[in-house]
Amino acid sequence: MSDKHSGSCLCGQVRFEVEGAFESFYLCHCEYCQKDTGSAHAANLFSSHARLHWISGEHNVRTFDLPSTRHSKSFCATCGSALPKLQMNGTLLAVPAGSLDSDVSIRPTAHIFVASKANWDDGLERVPRVERLPE
Ligand SMILES: [Zn+2]
Ligand SMILES: [Zn+2]
Repeated sequence: MSDKHSGSCLCGQVRFEVEGAFESFYLCHCEYCQKDTGSAHAANLFSSHARLHWISGEHNVRTFDLPSTRHSKSFCATCGSALPKLQMNGTLLAVPAGSLDSDVSIRPTAHIFVASKANWDDGLERVPRVERLPE
């Protein structure tokens, strides 16, 4: 399994590489992550020793820290895509799984903050699965 991952934003201005293994992969269903992603949960990979290298567009990366919380989000100023960020005073790298262009090398560790999950976020594995846009 490769310990090098690459990723980018939707508009392609921001590109990055992550060198080093991910230690955990959390699907966070908290209310902040619901707002932040517009979805049921965030999907973030974490590493305490991997190195983040911006390949292009670093000047386009913005970070929003939600006051009085530990919630923060980095995103592309042009397209809004979620991007990696350093948390906990730079000691923990968080990488949105969907921002990666390379395969994710570990399985999700856990669903967290499920006590705060959306009221429609239940039994999703039983919802019909359609390969592409429904007819
Ligand atoms: Zn972008
Ligand atoms: Zn969360």
